[in-house]
Amino acid sequence: MSKVLGIIGGGQLGMMLTEAAQDMKDEISKIIVLDPTKNCPASKVGAEQIIADFKDENAIKKLSELSDIITYEIESGNSDVLKKLEENTEINPSPDTLRIIQDKLLQKQFLKKNNIAIAEFAKIESKEELNQIIDKMGLPLLLKTRRDAYDGRGNYRINLKSEIDDALDLFSGKALMVEKFVEFEKEVSVIAARNTKGEIMTYPVVENIHENNILRMTIAPGRVSENVRKQAEQIAEKTMKVLHGAGVFGIEMFVTQDDEVLINEIAPRVHNSGHHTLQSCNTSQFEQHLRAILGMNLGNSSIKHPTIMYNILGPGTFQGEYHVLYKKSENIHLKMYGKLESKPQRKIGHMNIVDKENLGMDELLNQIEDLKKNLVIEPKQT
Ligand code: AMP
Repeated sequence: MSKVLGIIGGGQLGMMLTEAAQDMKDEISKIIVLDPTKNCPASKVGAEQIIADFKDENAIKKLSELSDIITYEIESGNSDVLKKLEENTEINPSPDTLRIIQDKLLQKQFLKKNNIAIAEFAKIESKEELNQIIDKMGLPLLLKTRRDAYDGRGNYRINLKSEIDDALDLFSGKALMVEKFVEFEKEVSVIAARNTKGEIMTYPVVENIHENNILRMTIAPGRVSENVRKQAEQIAEKTMKVLHGAGVFGIEMFVTQDDEVLINEIAPRVHNSGHHTLQSCNTSQFEQHLRAILGMNLGNSSIKHPTIMYNILGPGTFQGEYHVLYKKSENIHLKMYGKLESKPQRKIGHMNIVDKENLGMDELLNQIEDLKKNLVIEPKQT
């Protein structure tokens, strides 16, 4: 019997989950999202919407009453409320998994306990503790807020002891941790899926290029050695085995100068670095997530066509939709998220540049450079 799917979060990830769900009519009859933004991206492609804060207990309860199965596209959901609702409504990934992942310290402690490689870290509760840790670990290190941080906004790099006060002031009142600064060679990620029956599937490792802490571009598959590829995919598989959650997870990693792979962090949801799968793979990460939480067999995750994903970021503050002018080509797939408000650096769309003719990654990178030169992002005329 087909189910009503509830999604906490109706941004671009909720939108692409909605679109994937609409192609699974036998399994999913209706999609309802909970999101505070009126006319959120998911609602614009046909999801029903409950307009409320992601953590609003009554709204989450209402969503659970209306849904047969709940999932989420943000990690800042209210895991305590979800835990209470778990008896009556299926929730995947489970609230227990969410609770561990949404707190960076619990996440790192969990990974360490399971012998998964990560950077050295510590809990910090006072300036004295921070001073002691700096003496022990050395500098530079990153002071991180444990919860609700994204796009690097909860991180402060401490290079000198004289910066301690500024760093602590910035995050005053927040639960904190510190982490040794990793002089990484590359940032990579693996999108991994585990279905409710315990079947695990990983997508090939991809390479992520960030600018100002925001993902700019994903190169799929990543340009890494065979050794790094194997390490990354094995780490992802092991993480999925110990985490027990069902669904798609984005596992971000560092590759060190010695070709060692460390986990940076796990997202308990579909991930920006998996958007390439919409064109590069037979099964997109969005379809895979739905297959995983519905207990279906997982789809093929191999890359058919190498692809580069390029994020379109909002150029400024603007009430209204943007649209993009670019040199059109058959192998370029533009996806705009229909956001009705833009802020500088906000993700408003992405492009997948697909190598169907086996031209090679260097040629794709040239095409991206060309595309960037001619890309115009301007307010959409209504
Ligand atoms: P996060 O929000 O913690 O994933 O961090 C955002 C970005 O900060 C990452 O993509 C890295 O570029 C950088 N970063 C985070 N943790 C570390 C670390 N321990 N060492 C070096 N860079 C880091």
